[in-house]
Amino acid sequence: MTNLRLTNLRKAFDQTVAVEDVTVDVAAGSLFFLLGSSGCGKTTILRMVAGFVAPTSGRISFGDRDVTALAPEKRNAGMVFQNYALWPHMTVAQNVGFGLDVRKMAAVEKKKRIGESLELVRMSSYADRLPNQLSGGQQQRVALARAISFRPDLLLLDEPLSNLDAKLRLEMRAEIRRISDELHMTMLYVTHDQHEALSLADRIAVMRGGRIEQLGGPREIYDRPRTRFVAEFIGETNFVTGTVEGARDAEGFAAVATPLGALRAFIAPTISTSGEVTLSIRPESFRILVSDGVNAQAPVTKIAMGHCISSTYLGSTAQHVVDVRGVRLKVFEANPRNQSFAGKDLQLAIMADQVVAVEG
Ligand code: ATP
Repeated sequence: MTNLRLTNLRKAFDQTVAVEDVTVDVAAGSLFFLLGSSGCGKTTILRMVAGFVAPTSGRISFGDRDVTALAPEKRNAGMVFQNYALWPHMTVAQNVGFGLDVRKMAAVEKKKRIGESLELVRMSSYADRLPNQLSGGQQQRVALARAISFRPDLLLLDEPLSNLDAKLRLEMRAEIRRISDELHMTMLYVTHDQHEALSLADRIAVMRGGRIEQLGGPREIYDRPRTRFVAEFIGETNFVTGTVEGARDAEGFAAVATPLGALRAFIAPTISTSGEVTLSIRPESFRILVSDGVNAQAPVTKIAMGHCISSTYLGSTAQHVVDVRGVRLKVFEANPRNQSFAGKDLQLAIMADQVVAVEG
C-alpha cells in the first residue's frame, strides 16, 4: 500500500490555469474522490498523477518516491477510463494479461494473475471472449481487471461508470467498493457525480476553478459544507440569511436571527460571526406538521429485530439491506444521521398503512 501526495500542484496551458495550488494527501489503501463539474481541472490532476501531463510546478509522490518527472510506465499506476479502452482483437484474458506481458512476467505466474484478476471482477467464465461479445458493464469489469492485474501502487479511475446505465452503475459502484476493501489499493477516482462520491469515497475533494474548495469525508461535505458552492454542488439546499446573536457554544453552534425565526446553526470557525451569515438548510431537514398543532407522524408497527448487511450513503437518503429473520429487506432512510449501519442490529418499524397484498 502506498500513499499519494500532491504538493502545491499547478498546471497552466498557455493562458488557461487548469489546476492551481492543489495539496492533498491520499492515505494508503483509501478511495479518494476528486469531485467537480466539467472544466474544474480534475482530469488534468489525474493525468499529471498518471504521467501523461507534466505539471507546471509542484510535486507528486507515491510513498517516498518523487514521481513528478518519471515516465508513465515507471510509475506503476493502473488506469480505468470512461470508454474501457480494451484491445478489440484480444480476448478478455489477453487484455487482462497485457500489462503483465509489458512487465515480462513468467507464463505460470501470468496465468495465475489473470485468473485471480478475472475472479475478483467476477468475469472468470468470459476469459475467451472478445470485447465486442460483452456488455458495457462486462467490458468495464475487464478494464478494471486489466488495471489491477499487475498490482499497481495506485489505481486511477476517470469517470469509469458514466457510460453505463443507471442500474449497472449502481452494481458497479458496489463492485468498486468491494474491490477497494479486498485489495486495500490506493485509488484516485474522478467524477462529476456527487452520489458516486458520497456513496463510495473515504474522502472527497470538491473542486472549483482548478482549486480544492473543500476536502473531507462524505458526511462532513454533505452536512457541513463550508461554502455556498459546495452546499449547492453536493445536493439540493435552501439559503437563508440572518444575523448571529451571541457566541458559538462548545460544539460550534450559535443562535441566528432569520426571517424564519431564531435558528440554531453550526458556524465553522473560519466563518465570521459579525454581520450577516448565509445559512444552508437541506430540504430533507424540514418536517411537515399539521396546522392545528397535532403531530403528522403516521402510526407505525414495530417488527422483529434485524441485522444490517450493507448501507449506501447518498446524502439526502441512505439505502440499507437488512436481514430480519432470514428475510432480506431493502430499506430507504430519509435524512440519514449515520454513514453506515452495516454489521449493526437494527430495530425497524413499518408505516402501519403502507403494507399491501399483491397478486402473482
Ligand atoms: P471534464 O469533466 O469535462 O473532463 P475536468 O474537470 O476534468 O472536466 P480538465 O479536463 O482538467 O477539466 O480541464 C481543466 C481546464 O483546462 C479546462 O478549462 C480545459 O479547457 C483546460 N485544458 C485541459 N487540457 C488542456 C490542453 N491540453 N490544452 C489546453 N487547455 C486544456
